[in-house]
Amino acid sequence: MVSYKELGLVNTREMFAKAVKGGYAIPAFNFNTMEQMQAIVQAAVETKSPVIMQVSKGARNYANATILRYMAQGAVEYAKELGCANPQIVLHLDHGDTFELCKDCIDMGFSSVMIDGSSLPYEENIALASKVVEYAHKYDVTVEAELGVLAGVEDEVSSAVSHYTKPEEVIDFSQRTGCDSLAISIGTSHGAYKFTPAQCTRDPKTGKLVPPPLAFDILHEIEKKLPGFPIVLHGSSSVPQDEVDTINKFGGKLPDAVGIPEEQLREASKSAVCKINIDSDSRLAMTAAIRKYLAENPGHFDPRQYLKPARENMKKMYIHKIVNVLGSNDKL
Ligand SMILES: [Zn+2]
Repeated sequence: MVSYKELGLVNTREMFAKAVKGGYAIPAFNFNTMEQMQAIVQAAVETKSPVIMQVSKGARNYANATILRYMAQGAVEYAKELGCANPQIVLHLDHGDTFELCKDCIDMGFSSVMIDGSSLPYEENIALASKVVEYAHKYDVTVEAELGVLAGVEDEVSSAVSHYTKPEEVIDFSQRTGCDSLAISIGTSHGAYKFTPAQCTRDPKTGKLVPPPLAFDILHEIEKKLPGFPIVLHGSSSVPQDEVDTINKFGGKLPDAVGIPEEQLREASKSAVCKINIDSDSRLAMTAAIRKYLAENPGHFDPRQYLKPARENMKKMYIHKIVNVLGSNDKL
């Protein structure tokens, strides 16, 4: 058993309270490679932002759970080396689906876990989340639970249709589970294809897809029921068109990839939404830079040569999100 406190990590409690009060949101970036980790830490240090580094089940399978845990510990030390005296870094499990997985992460030094019972019947979701909360709180680890189902594909989480969170359930759910934050479904979606062309309209000028707006009425109703309670949005990449265009220009094939417009996320950040999950945008930034570099330098084969611009491009994207979308800069 390793406590996250020994690793210099923090849980989300104080961070979220400040974010809700201050009208901004904490970035939750997924990571599974060293370059992503470096880019996240550099961006957080340069902008003086707290940050949540999150690990999905797929990332654990890809990179190995122990390695990721040591990378998070390395992230804290790296932030200090970059001049940040008091880094606020959370190591979070994204979409934990069993009590055992959450316990395993807590025992190995995670400071926060998500238990995602959103696909279960309501009472079973409550029972599972309560069990995780009871264990996590013994070690001062914070817990995110989910109510409502997001559409889309993220690692091993997938659903063809979304079911918006029912505002009439949130008080009962948060009280009975004791969760510290609540992921809700208001129209965000996992992956780089968040909406089908049929769900969108097409901008007549650019020919690009315009996605349906988020259900802010549901968000506001939830806020009224649970004043000041931390709300989380998953699947909140914006799928930047310039990255998609670069990928397609240099041999990729991502037709009609579409995300959540940043103006809507900016608006959400000002509400009780205090954690916004971004994964696909990092994947797109990395892939765009690598495709471009390799196409322009066909004779190069040293991975450092193409991973360096990939890391730079991800860092630029992270900084942009922190400063221009979430507003979590200058909060350390
Ligand atoms: Zn998610």
